[in-house]
Amino acid sequence: MNYQELANLIFPEAKDISYYEEKYPERNLPEGAIVTRIAPSPTGFSHIGGLYQGLIARKLADQTKGVFFLRIEDTDQKREVKNGTSEIVESLTNFGVAPDEGMISETESKGEYGPYKQSERKEIYQAYAKYAIAQGKAYPCFCTPEETEEIRNKQEVAKIRPGYYGIWAKCRNLTLEEMAEKIKAGEKYIIRFKSPGREDRKIQHKDIIKGKVDFPENDQDIVIIKADGLPTYHFAHIVDDHLMRTTHVIRGDEWLSSVPLHLQLFHEMGFKAPKYAHIAPIMKNDNGNKRKLSKRKDPEAAVRYYAEMGIPPEAVKEYLLNIANSTFENWRRANPDKSSDEFELTLTKMSVSGALFDMVKLLDVAKTVISKMTAEDIYQETVAWAKIHDLSLVELLADKEYALQIFGIERGNKKPRKDISKWSDVKENIDYMYDELFEQNQDEYPLQVIQDPEKISQILRLYEEKYYDENDDKQTWFNKIKALAGEMGYAEEVKEFKANPEKYEAHVGDVSTVLRVALTKRINTPDMYEIMQVLGKERIMNRFKQAMKKVSN
Ligand code: GLU
Repeated sequence: MNYQELANLIFPEAKDISYYEEKYPERNLPEGAIVTRIAPSPTGFSHIGGLYQGLIARKLADQTKGVFFLRIEDTDQKREVKNGTSEIVESLTNFGVAPDEGMISETESKGEYGPYKQSERKEIYQAYAKYAIAQGKAYPCFCTPEETEEIRNKQEVAKIRPGYYGIWAKCRNLTLEEMAEKIKAGEKYIIRFKSPGREDRKIQHKDIIKGKVDFPENDQDIVIIKADGLPTYHFAHIVDDHLMRTTHVIRGDEWLSSVPLHLQLFHEMGFKAPKYAHIAPIMKNDNGNKRKLSKRKDPEAAVRYYAEMGIPPEAVKEYLLNIANSTFENWRRANPDKSSDEFELTLTKMSVSGALFDMVKLLDVAKTVISKMTAEDIYQETVAWAKIHDLSLVELLADKEYALQIFGIERGNKKPRKDISKWSDVKENIDYMYDELFEQNQDEYPLQVIQDPEKISQILRLYEEKYYDENDDKQTWFNKIKALAGEMGYAEEVKEFKANPEKYEAHVGDVSTVLRVALTKRINTPDMYEIMQVLGKERIMNRFKQAMKKVSN
């Protein structure tokens, strides 16, 4: 019996690997093009870290005219969830990081390097496992789970490194005849890789993000094909990224310690290894402690959260770029109107230990993103969000013309309003523009500088009778508020007030506030002139009346 005969006995049907080597040739791409991928398990794409990785991979492929593909790693079928793959595809697409190749729905894929679901690649893995056995580099292992457990226990008691290696790798030393006999007798087995490594020797890995890292060589005979005939992650990674012609593996840094094993497998199989970039997880500052963003503790760790809150995907994407490369912030300042797609991401500038995620900053980015949108887009996005999350808002916005006037306030100019950070904010942001909601708001009027009810009524009455004219332009309108302040004995200019604080009880801004509070029940709003234009005379007068009544009570 020789190795080839043993290989034939184990995988009689498997093809020669030359078949696959020809079927999946080197890609014909420009020099320097990066071929990379995202390879999640189909458990749904729930953590923001997955999106972060996808975004980084997508950008690198774009920047080098390369390829970004989606491979589904479903060899652990216990963990699979229903529609897990389509959920991943949808998330990537929603955030503008759709792959060029790979799975495009639960069951369909596109591209020449498939199948892109590992469970459909069983015969490919077996062909490569057969090849490894025929080369004397892999062997069947007949140890039962109980036996491996026993080995582990012994190692633990003796306080030595656990695992299947050296003298512990029992089946490695069976003769080919013994192996064949056991197989013929129907004994169950798995396939292990015969490691040529030695623990006392070091290898050096140069990671694109982590830099130079030293590791002991791998000396474990790892499982490559499990009892169910499917490969382990390690073996599938080698075979797939070889055949799919991946140039760069960008993945979570929980895999960094597997690099010695992976490099060994690539080398022993005679494949060129890809470059590796191990991304540190996104971190969060928790009372001064830096810890991983956790789906259990932090709602913002879930991709779903952003859709629920109505935070525009573009804002999330922009913020993730921000934490990927700290140079993004300056770039954005210098290029306020460019699409974030134009930013050049640099892998080597990514944080080695994990970038900090800050929700307040993300919402700030979202405010800027929304401030640049048109009233029409804001209307569309808000309604789309509300249809799923708040039907009463859909009703409120039914009069589209009117809604557009509201969203148009202080927009489209050089310094657009920046008060909306998410669609779930919209309602409370504009409720005072709707009489019904305005009247429902029974809160106390907010505290303001001018508090005397007499004075407030007097200001409103004077304004109504003497100063208000709906046809005034903005300058005239403002001059009149100044004049009203003067008539009340307040400073007409804030500067004047500041210079002589003892001389005045209030200034023109405080008079504006009286009007603003009467009209909106708020201290801060976008431009009051524009608000008044949208409300119109009748409603303005009506609100003044309500205010006079309320303060005199
Ligand atoms: N299925 C692995 C994971 O989700 C993929 C890691 C990789 O990108 O190679 O962690």
